[in-house]
Amino acid sequence: MKAVVYQEPYSVTVEDVPDARIEDPNDVVVRITTAAICGSDLHMYEGRTGAEPGIVFGHENMGVVEEVGPGVARIRKGDRVVLPFNVGCGFCRNCLAGDTGFCLTVNEGFAGGAYGYVSMGPYRGGQAEYLRVPFADFNCLKLPPGEQFEDDFALLADIFPTGYHATELADVSPGETVCVFGAGPVGLMAAYSAQLRGASKVFVVDRQPDRLALAERAGAIPVDFSQGDAAEQIKELNGGEGTDKGIDAVGYQATAREGEEQPALVLNTLVDAVRATGALGVVGLYLPADPGGPTESAKKGELLFRMGGFFEKGLRMGTGQADVKRYNRQLRDMIIAGRAQPSFVVSHRLPLAEAPDAYRHFDNRDPGWTKVLLKPDL
Ligand code: NAD
Ligand code: ZN
Repeated sequence: MKAVVYQEPYSVTVEDVPDARIEDPNDVVVRITTAAICGSDLHMYEGRTGAEPGIVFGHENMGVVEEVGPGVARIRKGDRVVLPFNVGCGFCRNCLAGDTGFCLTVNEGFAGGAYGYVSMGPYRGGQAEYLRVPFADFNCLKLPPGEQFEDDFALLADIFPTGYHATELADVSPGETVCVFGAGPVGLMAAYSAQLRGASKVFVVDRQPDRLALAERAGAIPVDFSQGDAAEQIKELNGGEGTDKGIDAVGYQATAREGEEQPALVLNTLVDAVRATGALGVVGLYLPADPGGPTESAKKGELLFRMGGFFEKGLRMGTGQADVKRYNRQLRDMIIAGRAQPSFVVSHRLPLAEAPDAYRHFDNRDPGWTKVLLKPDL
């Protein structure tokens, strides 16, 4: 079968790889209809993670069940399903508590597994014609048959629930003001989710005009950080006050690279932008090690966080991989009921063969390349 394979920094190719197959009785094999490219793939693509060549990328997957292992009870051949990016077992202490992003079973020695991701377990990605899904009764979310809402449903694998998770971590409540750093697909989904939860004003910070325009069309107030200190701009637009809540949807790639000593952490700007006793939700990725970091300390994943300002303001913070399963049944039903249309972020629907080009454009943040969906049957 064909799949998107990582070769070296800034290079993926579409290759023939061994077919996905049932390896355990509780597996299914899914024929992929849509697999999205994610900002998280870019950490590996840009060579920051030390990922080995040969990884099949793709953790945002949906499709139709093609083959069912003998131990699977609930999922049938022909079911249309979306696969949360976290691989969970469903029975460990963390899965039972709903913390499926931190499953203790699927990734020996670590908490949490994912498809097609360095250090997240042995699971191949779904930017391919087929995908093996372990613990399939737990890891498949069933969808109505047919092709309706395909692009909206595809976003249930990661960015819609991840954006929602950010608002949950920050405890966004009706009537509150929220600032979201990053107008990438994840930040846009966080801003959208904040509005679904009844936020009164949502500010979205980025420097990319096309992404800021999309945020504005989705009902947020754009803030361009290339035009001056983002926290000051937000306060000015918010009656002189910081916002009630804040979200980091950028992560560690906004930190200093060559020649810069002090990382320009988005988190430090958030400490300024949010009012005292507010809360921060951090879904932008921070890795425990950054082999490409500019200093020894950065290589160990250490960053200079302004703990003093954070403490002084009595702020709270939640972090981590999103527990997709916690939200995606409810978000699916909002899509079906016409109450949510997250696919406004989708900019491209392309065949698998165009993945190398799509990675280049998305990685360059070329104008208009917001969210790419790969469709193996195109
Ligand atoms: P992206 O790279 O397309 O978006 C990041 C955006 O941040 C870009 O538009 C960029 O211009 C902007 N940006 C850069 N520096 C900035 C700064 N200083 N202030 C404000 N904006 C800045 O990626 P994405 O797909 O939207 O993903 C965003 C982050 O979320 C990534 O780190 C990704 O790994 C992470 N992520 C986490 C989870 C999770 O479960 N926690 C899931 C998916 C993605
Ligand atoms: Zn993702």
